[in-house]
Amino acid sequence: MDFKINTKGKNLFLILSTITLILMMAITTLLWWFISPRLHEISTILADLSLTALRVFFFVLIMGTILVLLICYTETNLLVAKFAITAYIKIIYPVTLLLGRLIGISKEKIRESFVSVNNSFINALKKQFNPSELLILLPHCLQHTDCTIRITTDVTKCARCGKCDIAKLCEISEKYKIKMAIATGGTIARKIIIENRPKFIIAVACERDLVDGLREVFPIPVYGVLNLRPEGPCVNTRVITGEIESALGALIKV
Ligand code: SF4
Repeated sequence: MDFKINTKGKNLFLILSTITLILMMAITTLLWWFISPRLHEISTILADLSLTALRVFFFVLIMGTILVLLICYTETNLLVAKFAITAYIKIIYPVTLLLGRLIGISKEKIRESFVSVNNSFINALKKQFNPSELLILLPHCLQHTDCTIRITTDVTKCARCGKCDIAKLCEISEKYKIKMAIATGGTIARKIIIENRPKFIIAVACERDLVDGLREVFPIPVYGVLNLRPEGPCVNTRVITGEIESALGALIKV
């Protein structure tokens, strides 16, 4: 099997975030241009200092953008990958989401693309883990609605009838000796993470839950896998299990 992490679809978020950063520079320049005559009146030193601060700010933004693009497209760990992840998850994501909404791009598309950018960062870090340090976190909607087995407290209770993807995922978690749990909501997900203390999480969810989750558990790295919704949201959802197995192959120390 070709072991790898799926990072398709990152272009939209990277283009939008680059435009966001250019706009931030334009707005800052405009602000400085308005206040600089007043600063000169107060003190020329103050005016010079503000200009220097503006240049440093621009330098950081331009270099940061170039490095992020390099990390995402070459998927190499350029030492600043950790810093880039922090900036993108904490600051750039909400501003880019706002810009995208203003120009009429759906939140789902932006979130989906952001998950791919996050996965590119994860790939660039090139970290590997012991199986005991990994956790697969699944949403409850993967379980078939006809199933009466209570697997939310213990996923291994799945009878593996094959009606939903939980059966295959149980096989994968057994094969690679990875802990796997089902989260019925954000509070339960947090509880599972606190109890298991994973160093890396593979999370399956919809765009919104994935982005909220990976931002919340940061700095724990999360590989996000989008679920498929052939019957609409939150009902009998599916997942490409091969994508999870492929990622495990790349993540587990050999
Ligand atoms: S595979 Fe497991 S969880 Fe899914 S329907 Fe069958 S027994 Fe239930």
